[in-house]
This record gives sequence, structure tokens and C-alpha cells, in this order.
Amino acid sequence: MWKRYLEISVLTKILIGLILGVIFGLIIGPKMEVLKPLGDIFMNLLKMIVMPVILFSLVVGAASIEPARLGKVGVKIMIYYLFTSAIAVFIGLLTSALFKPGVGLQLAGVTAKGITATPPSLVEVLLGIIPTNPFDALAKGQVLPTIFFGIVLGLALSLLKESRQESISSSAELVIRVFDGLANAMYKIVRGILQYAPIGVFVLVGIVFGKQGAKAVGPLLTVILAVYLGLAIHIFLVYGGFLRAFGIGLFAFLSKAKDAMLTAFVTRSSSGTLPVTMRVAHEEMGLPVGIYSFTLPFGATINMDGTALYQGVCAIFVANAIGMHLTFSQQIVVVLTAVLASIGTAGVPGAGAIMLLMVLDSIGIKLTEGSAAAMAYAMILGVDAILDMGRTMVNVTGDLVGTVIVSKSEGELDESRWG
Ligand code: ASP
Repeated sequence: MWKRYLEISVLTKILIGLILGVIFGLIIGPKMEVLKPLGDIFMNLLKMIVMPVILFSLVVGAASIEPARLGKVGVKIMIYYLFTSAIAVFIGLLTSALFKPGVGLQLAGVTAKGITATPPSLVEVLLGIIPTNPFDALAKGQVLPTIFFGIVLGLALSLLKESRQESISSSAELVIRVFDGLANAMYKIVRGILQYAPIGVFVLVGIVFGKQGAKAVGPLLTVILAVYLGLAIHIFLVYGGFLRAFGIGLFAFLSKAKDAMLTAFVTRSSSGTLPVTMRVAHEEMGLPVGIYSFTLPFGATINMDGTALYQGVCAIFVANAIGMHLTFSQQIVVVLTAVLASIGTAGVPGAGAIMLLMVLDSIGIKLTEGSAAAMAYAMILGVDAILDMGRTMVNVTGDLVGTVIVSKSEGELDESRWG
């Protein structure tokens, strides 16, 4: 039976788990929660290899690329990440203009506490990238400091590899090969974890739909529609357009990216999905480790197109709900702050909703206790899991699209796989 199970494609199994999860969730309701440990097994397995996979593949990646190239790749991917996030907010504003979420909303009966968020200062964020103790950063799961350390270690090894002293160059090569072996072992583990995914997916999705039910969705249907239509437009027009411009078909891309996209959808965590995203880049897409080992962890931390789009829609929702009309310049402020807020959003479930407070704040909406804005915000939280699924999927997809086109622009795309 196990052999039979292995023969079915992972995608089919995950989709079955997903559909059954929705159905059972709606039928069983909040009691689905008792199965939570089975979902936690899946999440924990993924989280278990996030930090190892980042460090191991980054060391191999940084050792395989010249420092100047790495800098070029960094600039290109940064421009792409910022640009696509800004477009995403625009699309969110457009679909909001279509669905007008929050207009004429009845806020009575919703209770809300005052909520404030204090984002860290820019200097703090930048300084935090250099780990004072890389092992501490690894242990705490801090991605940016780990990326920094991994790059430094990889570059040092690549320089030592060129040493004229045989003992030094051969030991550097050996270390790189050890890291390479470890990185490959991680991808093997990911493949194993994906065999468990259908059960995890069934439970995770079941809990979301069990809690949510259809009732909570009602008044927020326009928000959900605006977000999901926006996400679809972003995938088909923006990602499709970018890929086409680089001679790659969207469907060829999606068929390779599907495991990562689905995992993101159900786990609602870009960073939890990272091992799967890295495996997809490595094994399905054949991308160069020198590029993806850097762009993907970086993207999972700072590039969140789906979150930016969602924050745009939700800002309009809250504004509409409290009867405030956003001027053109306020909408521009929303675009700018949503891009920043999405960069600051951690790749974990629900983080985007917290950073949304920053966007609201920028247009003068304060969530004081009992205020209409706080009530509207509380309503969003009620359906946030459903919105989080779609936006996380787009967050991860965006990282992969960027990595593919940067690889192509560097002449490093294995064309035989994309024929
Ligand atoms: N869950 C999202 C992610 O991991 C972040 C968010 O809440 O928007 O990408």
C-alpha cells in the first residue's frame, strides 16, 4: 500500500488533502482543532530544516559565484522585489475600487481592543543583519543574519580554494563538498516531508475552514474577492509578463513551482515553505545554487507581493468602513508604506495583519479602543487565515519568478529544462 501511495504524485495527494480538509472543516467545525497535532507535525518538520537548508546551500552558493557577480545579482533581485511589490499594491487598490470593500458596513456588534504596533527603527534593522553570534542567529531562526554569515563563510571558502598552498585549497574544497552533501541531504528530507504533507494539509486547512465557517465570511466577501482577484491578476499579468519578457512560459513555470505554491498556501508561512521552495529551484527548475541560495531566503524574508497587495485592499476596507475617502496622495502613501510594511513582515502566519497597522497609521487611522477603525480591523482578523493562504502563495511565487528571471539574465538558466 505504501508503494502505491508513493506512486501517486505529491500534487494530487496534496490537492486531495486540501479538498477533504475544506469539506471536513465545514462539516465538523471548530472541533477540527483536536487534530491540530497532526498539522503541527507537518509544520515542525518543515521548520526543522529551514535554518540548515539556508546555511548549507548558501555556503555552497556563495562559494560558487564571484563576489562581483553576487553583488550584481543582489542589485537586480532587489530592484525586482521592490518593483513588483509596488505594482502589487497598485493592483490591490484597483481591485478595491472595483469591489468597494467596507462601503456601507454595519460595525455594530463587533468588539475591539485598542491596538498599536511599534516598528523597529531602520538603523536597528540594518545593524541586526550582522550577527554578533551566528550560532545564536541560527538557533533563533533569524534569516537575514544567517544569510550574512553564510555568504561571508562561502566567499572565504571560495578564496581559500584558489590558494597556492595545496593543504589549504584542498581543505577548503572538502568543506564546500561537505556543505554540498548536507544541502542535498536537506532536499532529500524535503521530499520525504512532502509525502506526509497531504495529512498535514488536510488538518491545517480543515482547522481554518472549521473555525471560519461561512458566517464570518459574509460581510467580508468583498475584501476576499478584491484580494483574490488582485492576486490572480498579479500572477497572470505581472509574473506572466515578466516571465514572457524573458522568454519563459507562465504555465511551464507554474507546473514546476506548484509544490512550493501549494505548501505556501496551506502553511501560510513563506519561511516554513523555504525548504520546499529551495528544492523546487534546485531539482525542478535546475537554477544555479549561486543565485537561488541567496535570492530565495532573502525573498522569503523581504519580498511579499501578496502581503503588499492585501495591505492595500485592507487599508481601503478600513477607510471605507469608517467613511473616510482616500485622496490620490493618500493612496500613494498607502503604496509606499505597504511596500515597506511588506518588507518588514515576517514570513510567518498572520504577520501581515500586524504590519497592516503601520499602513493604517500612515494615513492617519489610529486603532483606539472601541473605535470604528478598530472594529473594522478586528473583522479582518476574523477572516485573515483565508486571506493569508492566498497572499503567502503569491509571496513565495514572486521569489521564484524573480530568481528565474535573474538566472536567465545572468545566462545561467538551464534551457534544456524549459524547452
Ligand atoms: N503569512 C505571510 C508569509 O509568510 C506573511 C503575512 O502574514 O502576510 O508570507
